[in-house]
Amino acid sequence: MEEAVVKRILDAHWDKLLPVRPADIARSLGMRIDVLDGPDLSGEAEIRDGQKVIKFNRNESTNRQRFTMAHEIGHHVLGHVTSSKSKHRDNAGSFSSGNNDWQEVQANRFAAALLMPKLAIETLVYREGMTNISRLAETLRVSEAAMYYRLKNLGML
Ligand SMILES: [Zn+2]
Repeated sequence: MEEAVVKRILDAHWDKLLPVRPADIARSLGMRIDVLDGPDLSGEAEIRDGQKVIKFNRNESTNRQRFTMAHEIGHHVLGHVTSSKSKHRDNAGSFSSGNNDWQEVQANRFAAALLMPKLAIETLVYREGMTNISRLAETLRVSEAAMYYRLKNLGML
């Protein structure tokens, strides 16, 4: 489900360059990017004055920031933030593979598909012969763990 939603977004809002830049996609989708106001948080998704806003923690690693942004975009696109009262806050636990909250699971799947487009992986692996996980992760600017799970979910491992 997330895969199809992401494909539509990538088709319309991605310049086909790697790595995918989630900030550009958020802006292209009409979202605003703002600073985070809690020290123990990784990200937030909220609607303020009718405007979709995403926030991420600038003190975390670049890969983490990119994943957080993609995850928060997912909360908006998947309809998890419906009113100005339903501010969505994420700490490190939200991104854990052990998290069973369906909204977090969906947002994480969305983020993985957005940052690691199926088409891009297939091109890198099958056309360019890039089969090393750390090189793939480096090319797509994601963590090796995220890369591993994505390849697994695509049935490529
Ligand atoms: Zn979340």
